[in-house]
Amino acid sequence: MANQEDFFKKVVSHAKEYGFIFPSSEIYDGLAAVYDYGQLGTELKNNIKQYWWRAMVQYHENIVGIDSAIFMHPKIWKASGHVDAFNDPLIDNKDSKKRYRADVLIEDHIAKIEDKINKECAKAAKRFGDAFNREQFVTTNARVLEHQKQIDEIREKYAECMNANDLAGLKQLILDLGIVDPISGTRNWTDVRQFNLMFATKMGSVIDDSDTLYLRPETAQGIFVNFLNVQKSGRMKIPFGIAQIGKAFRNEIVARQFIFRMREFEQMEMQFFVRPGTELEWFKHWKEERLRWHLALGIPAEKYRYHDHEKLAHYANAATDIEFEFPFGFKELEGIHSRTDFDLSRHSEFSGKKLQYFDSELNESYIPYVIETSIGVDRTFLAIFSHALKDEVLPDGSTRTVLSLPAVLAPYKAAILPLVKKDGLPEKAREIMDSLKYDYMLQYDEKDAIGRRYRRQDAIGTPYCITVDNDTLNDNSVTVRDRDTMQQERIPIENLSLFLHQHIQPIKVD
Ligand code: ATP
Repeated sequence: MANQEDFFKKVVSHAKEYGFIFPSSEIYDGLAAVYDYGQLGTELKNNIKQYWWRAMVQYHENIVGIDSAIFMHPKIWKASGHVDAFNDPLIDNKDSKKRYRADVLIEDHIAKIEDKINKECAKAAKRFGDAFNREQFVTTNARVLEHQKQIDEIREKYAECMNANDLAGLKQLILDLGIVDPISGTRNWTDVRQFNLMFATKMGSVIDDSDTLYLRPETAQGIFVNFLNVQKSGRMKIPFGIAQIGKAFRNEIVARQFIFRMREFEQMEMQFFVRPGTELEWFKHWKEERLRWHLALGIPAEKYRYHDHEKLAHYANAATDIEFEFPFGFKELEGIHSRTDFDLSRHSEFSGKKLQYFDSELNESYIPYVIETSIGVDRTFLAIFSHALKDEVLPDGSTRTVLSLPAVLAPYKAAILPLVKKDGLPEKAREIMDSLKYDYMLQYDEKDAIGRRYRRQDAIGTPYCITVDNDTLNDNSVTVRDRDTMQQERIPIENLSLFLHQHIQPIKVD
């Protein structure tokens, strides 16, 4: 754990040192849980958004994208349930005066028991070697079964309390589990209270309550209220989807873990409208499709897992999270929900407008059912960035820090490096830069020894370094160094564009 904590600190400091992410308003000592993306972070973030947009909108003929406003009519948040129910249960420790989410305390407790299971598995795997079968072990080993039973019981009690909005029961569960405040180490807890996560503001000069606006806590509602606009203007036929990328705001109680939990963040959401009765098939489809999207990045499958929800929101009839193993453990990266016809029905009711679809094949009108896929841009950034960051020991005993980002997401695709700053090499390098810069983000660097320049590019994830040396002037070839293998190959300048094109392909999800 200590190692993981150190590694996470390294992630945060690397992100700052190389211009990926800065604390917001830093010269004023920062603003809690708000961050700014720097020059390289913005490139990486834009590339992540583009990767998602392509996979969802460009590769699917029946999905279109919109960009709705952050401000929306206040009734929308009544209809969606956010005014009354977008709450987190919070609890304070009277000794440390720190505030926690009751559900997070319980999840953390469960994670500790899961850790014990993993330790048992690791021990057994060592003992049995190749013959070890995890599946069989976890379903037969007495100690593991006992731990699992504990987890199931906690989850069941937790779900019961949440479904019944039983806040006293939730507190009792925390007491029964002996959960202590990690700071004070005591069990001196306050009662559990509900806390609404929406930021409120006022519009125009009217100050009466009815003009309270909310900064949207999710982008999804902008899609629902435009359902008919898009369906009619785009002549969309069910099943079809509407995608959107945009900012969302939540007054998170416990905002920590860097960009994992922010108060201002970005979401990539897609609402897929289907015939009633077919939603569970489509839920399965999107559950699988979205995991494939993650895996296409080349991150190992064991870093991801599904977490099917036991406690379903009142509007959902199926829900799962795709969790990622962040440096602080497995946590939600994306949610996939079967939301029934809840949202469109509620907006019909609150707006008085019929939000229906006429299905010409069935010759009937209905309110479509919805499957939602919802993923945080910032969490995706953190997943990709933290997985990519490595310290490596090289064969000669030296070390390097390398950011092995998927090439298509890397801020710079290549660096153009004249070996020395004389003999006409900078001019030649600039010529190459000019011929490629309209197609690729490139960085030109002529400062310091070539080895140091390679290290700088490794640290920011540039997949290729293109070095111009004295031979280049004679043979019109350059040395291309691969970031991950550090292998170098000689390539004619005229083939560089094709080389980059072939090696920096957009990732395809099929
Ligand atoms: P959590 O349980 O972690 O608070 P959630 O279940 O409230 O998340 P959703 O409402 O399903 O999250 O939002 C969809 C996605 O938006 C999440 O999977 C996550 O990637 C992202 N997200 C939600 N809240 C935040 C936040 N405060 N900061 C960054 N990303 C967030």
